[in-house]
Amino acid sequence: MTTVSQDLRRDLAAIGRRFYDRGWMWATAGNLSARADESSFWITASGVSKGDLGPADFVRVGLEDGEIRERGRPDAKPSAEVAIHGAIYRTQPGATACLHGHSVEAILASRGRDPIVLPRVEMIKALGIWDDGTPAAVPVFTNHPDVASIGQAVETFLRDHPRPLPALMVRDHGITAWGARLADALRHFEAVEFLLMLLARGF
Ligand SMILES: [Zn+2]
Repeated sequence: MTTVSQDLRRDLAAIGRRFYDRGWMWATAGNLSARADESSFWITASGVSKGDLGPADFVRVGLEDGEIRERGRPDAKPSAEVAIHGAIYRTQPGATACLHGHSVEAILASRGRDPIVLPRVEMIKALGIWDDGTPAAVPVFTNHPDVASIGQAVETFLRDHPRPLPALMVRDHGITAWGARLADALRHFEAVEFLLMLLARGF
């Protein structure tokens, strides 16, 4: 288990560098997580640049209670947005990874849209939908300083929508995408960012 967890954290750190370089994780924004086992997941510690993550910059928390199970270093605290990740893992049993960023394009695209209907261009295939009539709408949640309340709103929505698009938006904040494997979460995140970039540029 230790070896597997170390690998997960290294994989997430590599994604953090990639997203930071793309301008999706300015300052210390954004957070990345992956299931460690059936009852807990690793998530980035708060207050660290996602462009410079190491295995010590993660905290393992309980999936049901959000309690800290393990820290990469003694002062590591989980991201405040752990509540959103927990809501996704509890309602999406097949999800093993969640990625969250703060991009300029996502904020621009969310202005005046609720939900955000994604344009049906080629990239939408990366989300597993095409022109079969499946709605390609990203739900938009109100941003709030009390992140736990956002997590509750996300959990309620996902319980009421059993087969959601694997992504959501918090208004004026950023998107979170998930997937059955880390590679799926990455593909979903990048595809939604691409589609939001189109909307932000007036498509
Ligand atoms: Zn955030």
